[in-house]
Amino acid sequence: MAARAIQRVLNSPLLRREAYVGGLWTTSKDRQTFDVRNPSNRETICSVPDMTSEDVAMAIEKAYDVRKDWGGLLAKERCGIVRRWYEKVVEKHEELAYILTAEQGKPLNEARVEVSYAASFIEWFSEEGKRTFGDTIPTHAHNKRLMTIKQPVGVTALITPWNFPLAMITRKAAAALAAGCPVVVKPAEDTPLSALALANLAEEAGFPSGVYNTVTCSKDRVDSVGRELALSDKVAALSFTGSTVVGKLLMNLCSGSVKRISLELGGNAPFIVFDNADVEMAVSGAVAAKFRNTGQTCVSPNRFYVQEGIHDEFCRRLKESIECLIVNDGFADGAQQGPLINESAIEKVRRHVDDAVQKGAHVLCGAVPGPLGGSFYLPTLLTNVNSTMVMTSEETFGPIVGVAKFKTEEEAVAAANQTRYGLSGYIYSQSPSQIWRIAEALECGIVGVNEGLLSTEFAPFGGYKESGLGREGSKYGIEEYLEIKYICMGNV
Ligand code: ADP
Repeated sequence: MAARAIQRVLNSPLLRREAYVGGLWTTSKDRQTFDVRNPSNRETICSVPDMTSEDVAMAIEKAYDVRKDWGGLLAKERCGIVRRWYEKVVEKHEELAYILTAEQGKPLNEARVEVSYAASFIEWFSEEGKRTFGDTIPTHAHNKRLMTIKQPVGVTALITPWNFPLAMITRKAAAALAAGCPVVVKPAEDTPLSALALANLAEEAGFPSGVYNTVTCSKDRVDSVGRELALSDKVAALSFTGSTVVGKLLMNLCSGSVKRISLELGGNAPFIVFDNADVEMAVSGAVAAKFRNTGQTCVSPNRFYVQEGIHDEFCRRLKESIECLIVNDGFADGAQQGPLINESAIEKVRRHVDDAVQKGAHVLCGAVPGPLGGSFYLPTLLTNVNSTMVMTSEETFGPIVGVAKFKTEEEAVAAANQTRYGLSGYIYSQSPSQIWRIAEALECGIVGVNEGLLSTEFAPFGGYKESGLGREGSKYGIEEYLEIKYICMGNV
């Protein structure tokens, strides 16, 4: 099954082995390439260009040359092309899902969900792009009239991660393109094939040459490529999703040219279950939120706080649910948990579990490699977790639940907020007044109340504190790519 699926990917017309710059499919100048691997067995799928900073400078140049033309189209014309891109993605849904599972490892059914999720952002912004309204402002003087218009910021660099290789591109790119900004997309080195497939569909959709560019590079070259994108005067805005450490580095580099910057960085989400919660609801929410993408999701709960009265029952039922999860190659029938993305991901999970167990955590299930070895790890439940353990201060990004018991509401809120991160948080309670108190007290950008799955193109996604800057999706997402111009008309 898996071998046949990989063969299907290799035969797919959407599988591109070249980067896309200025409307042309291209190699890197020095013809270097790097391998893309299947995380399930570490076998090479194919290789793609390892582009240099000079190659990337060329892509920026191409985008810069067309920024006025693209920004100058009528919103209806521009959004029509974005809409065609959406239709192409929908048409090639299954092809995209196969490429995604091959290079990212997530189960095929989850890959299908991601394709739809990715498409939803393109559809959304093809509509929002027509509604970038300015204001007429009450005047402060009888002979003056005040108003604002919104204009595209210009060339936008988009640096994206491997956990949602399609959706993290479309959530940024569709907003930027609809706003009138040409884009240079730099996907993660683990998952460039999904990005190139999207570029292929963007080409088919009819974006003019230079408006949509995708450059690929290896880990060895990402530092210089990142510098080029962040330092270039021709790039007006940079949007990044990834680790906090790289986000801070890019933010520093962008300060040189005072670029517009949007950051979606790490999370360390608390998941709080109160005594009065519906335990069944809390368990199914915990499984949905924690084990999506094998725990490799920024909004994944990372710290579980469960009140003492419900603690034992919650843990018992959660263990039963976790033990039912099927761990297998993403192309295998019924697979629910795929491999982790690479060796360093599995290394981190092992380090977190070992550290917790050494400091007194109890293993209720898992805590060992998965049946297929390699990058697989069994879904794990630990109890007796406390704040001295690394897994409570660092984002694990793996299939590990660590539960800490608490007594009072104040204690839970203080623990939940005791982090420099603030992307998401989850509350399970049946008390409306408690829900409002906690939802308002949590220092994070997204709160799930009796709900584990929160992401949608309709709602703003973004974090407080060191989890980021700006919002993606929703009516707010397009603002990241627009300038507000105030016009004062005098002597009226
Ligand atoms: P992770 O550790 O989860 O892979 P990263 O922040 O390293 O997260 O990766 C997210 C994205 O940032 C990827 O596209 C990666 O290639 C890119 N990246 C990594 N290091 C740099 C850098 N120094 N400059 C620019 N981009 C980078």
